Amino acid sequence: MKIKRVCVYCASSRRCDGAYHDSAERLGRILARAEITVVFGGGRSGSMGRLADGVLAEGGRIIGVIPHFMNDLEWAHPGLSELVLVHDMHERKRLMIQEVDAVVALPGGCGTFEELFEAMAWKRLGLFCGPIVIVNSRGYYRAGLELLEGAIAQNFMDERHRLLWSVVEEPEQVLDAIETAPVWESGNREFAVP
Ligand code: AMP
Repeated sequence: MKIKRVCVYCASSRRCDGAYHDSAERLGRILARAEITVVFGGGRSGSMGRLADGVLAEGGRIIGVIPHFMNDLEWAHPGLSELVLVHDMHERKRLMIQEVDAVVALPGGCGTFEELFEAMAWKRLGLFCGPIVIVNSRGYYRAGLELLEGAIAQNFMDERHRLLWSVVEEPEQVLDAIETAPVWESGNREFAVP
């Protein structure tokens, strides 16, 4: 299957270690070189801005989905291929994941966590069935992955739910992880209740 469109969740923080921003730019360049359209939250700051800069530097296509209020605050990246203005955060998240072949989460804060966990919850229910790739740069997601393992160990989820996500260490491994992710059918909805 040719990957055409990928949604990336990542940080707005300007103050995190610059290595995270560099990873975001690398991922943007990799996706653009593979002629994959990137969908993201539309922001100009932090990893979001660098992701977009990376895509644009390679002549790629990147679509931002941002609520009016953030655009009014001039939080949107000014050079995007397309900027979709939405009413609220719920509409933003729904549009971001719509019709993408995969979701990728780079390190980020509560906004990124929320987006990542929503994608997992939707996949568990068969509402989104594509690969979900977590980029564990500098081991950032170690604690989050332990949280998920704890949920499995205590039967809030079960072993099959480990197939919901894949983990890589570097952006350079993302395309391979998308291509080799286990197939998840909407029929797996029965997995919703362990
Ligand atoms: P975080 O990982 O907490 O930095 O959040 C990233 C997500 O938070 C984005 O996808 C947005 O939902 C939202 N967000 C927070 N701050 C900004 C900002 N300055 N510009 C655009 N989006 C932001």
